[in-house]
Amino acid sequence: MLSSASCRLLPHISRATKTVKTWSCTSYVIQSRHYSNGEMQDLVVIGSGPGGYVAAIKAAQLGLKTTCVEKDPTLGGTCLNVGCIPSKSLLNNSHLYHMAHSNDLQNRGIEFDNIRLNIDKMMEQKRASVKALTGGIAHLFKQNKVTLAQGFGKISGANEVTVVKEGGEEEKISTKNILLAVGSEVTPFPGIEIDEKQIVSSTGALSLEQVPGSMVVIGAGVIGVELGSVWSRLGADVTCIEFLGHIGGLGIDMEVAKNFQRSLTKQGLKFKLNTKVTQAEKVGDKIRVSFEGVKDGKGDQIECDTLLVCIGRRPFTKNIGLDSVGLQLDERGRIDVNDRFQTLVPNIYAIGDCIKGPMLAHKAEDEGIICVENICGGAGHLDYNCVPSVVYTHPEVAWVGKTEEQLKEEGVKYAVGKFPLAANSRSKCNNDTDGFVKVLGDKETDRLLGCHIIASVAGELINEAVLAMEYGASCEDVARVCHAHPTVAEALREANLAAYCGKPINF
Ligand code: FAD
Ligand code: NAD
Repeated sequence: MLSSASCRLLPHISRATKTVKTWSCTSYVIQSRHYSNGEMQDLVVIGSGPGGYVAAIKAAQLGLKTTCVEKDPTLGGTCLNVGCIPSKSLLNNSHLYHMAHSNDLQNRGIEFDNIRLNIDKMMEQKRASVKALTGGIAHLFKQNKVTLAQGFGKISGANEVTVVKEGGEEEKISTKNILLAVGSEVTPFPGIEIDEKQIVSSTGALSLEQVPGSMVVIGAGVIGVELGSVWSRLGADVTCIEFLGHIGGLGIDMEVAKNFQRSLTKQGLKFKLNTKVTQAEKVGDKIRVSFEGVKDGKGDQIECDTLLVCIGRRPFTKNIGLDSVGLQLDERGRIDVNDRFQTLVPNIYAIGDCIKGPMLAHKAEDEGIICVENICGGAGHLDYNCVPSVVYTHPEVAWVGKTEEQLKEEGVKYAVGKFPLAANSRSKCNNDTDGFVKVLGDKETDRLLGCHIIASVAGELINEAVLAMEYGASCEDVARVCHAHPTVAEALREANLAAYCGKPINF
């Protein structure tokens, strides 16, 4: 671990001349501590999402005097409060309910009567996991001596952050470096007003009080299929309307997308692809959604009880004082950075959803760690080709590296190795055979170029492929690694075997 003395901090550019009030920690969580005492900070992080909180902890561990500014009453950002964590809680528990309700458990010899859904209890369990994890960050801040400043953080100079508290009171913090980790927000649909009750974004869809009779989802990207699955499993009649010709969002392998759609359709979700929603209006106690074919322009309408709008997210970068230091946003509202996450003002950095790249929690975390290591003199960089994507439906879908479509476009010659879960012993004895593993290896060098998985444990399995790709492994390398039996990971081994020598053992 580096001490603060060994950290090569960027030079202090200009000291704030008019400090209205010296900064002191008035955190609602760490009330008794008074860390910063108006002292110059080494780093002020704005935002406590997975990018910001991880960066703040890492910075403190490396010896930087660190303050993290958060506007919301709880820590953890989108991911912990209204994103990854609550959605995965509902996905897990709605899956268990669906297994019982669809006779899956009964078919395994587990018999019971009177299956009932207690939605309040399911929501309570979701809230409990969110509370435990967001509270855990406050504990980690305390343990690592990260100062927490509650309020809206704004840059007010290259070496100053102003924290606007509830009630309008302002406090200023002097700092050598600033890290913007301000995240993202729901992209609004022009003309459709979200009330988070009947017309909901992902946030409202995580807290519905009742299962709607019918739900229309605008967008069959990641949120559309995950939250569409939750409410479909709990009994809603769900129709996803998607502009593209496939589900699962951008970056998914087309063969995987087709199989994925087939699996979800079997579970009861309906999809209208190549279809663009144009409008939605409340009619009585229903919502009427208008759409048109992308190819033929043919218009139609559908009515539903609840409308979920999930057409993407946009950076949350307004009013954060960029103009005070001459910084501008790009055409998509993102903060422009170099590969050290530096803006044009060299001691102001940005990471996570507010910069380019996929909007993923683990991407934000890794950027945060590399960014603060670089502030301390490191030379780290992130290989975006090795950032995995996971869709947490059942089965899960996960991928890393290149798709077949990308390799074709790049003119790279590749070998395909595939292995169906129906031939994997663990999947077979778990009666969980929906899916396959597909790997893409360089035809000449055998280097693993991409891995695409549909499996109930795809999100766990993909990490092995990421590790292999990070270390430049060949398909043969992976195939020669001893894998525990019986595990689903053996399917990944067999797919690699198929890619490098054409023949798996068990299929
Ligand atoms: P955020 O998590 O958005 O955090 C930004 C923080 O900054 C917030 O706490 C905000 O209040 C604070 N902030 C903003 N401006 C200011 C300011 N001026 N002053 C003070 N504080 C400020 N990703 C995955 O990898 N896996 C998943 O399973 C997954 N599931 C998701 C499910 C849903 C429903 C949604 C909506 C998203 C999901 N994501 C998932 C995406 C993931 O949540 C984001 O990519 C991730 O949270 C981005 O982290 P971040 O730190 O950049 O920003
Ligand atoms: P998305 O970009 O994944 O999907 C939005 C979809 O809406 C796209 O496929 C788009 O074609 C479609 N769309 C846009 N306008 C439309 C219209 N008028 N009619 C019909 N379809 C339309 O975005 P999202 O699902 O809102 O998710 C937002 C972000 O959150 C994503 O970037 C994702 O990375 C992140 N997220 C990740 C996870 C995960 O990692 N498991 C889960 C949830 C969210």
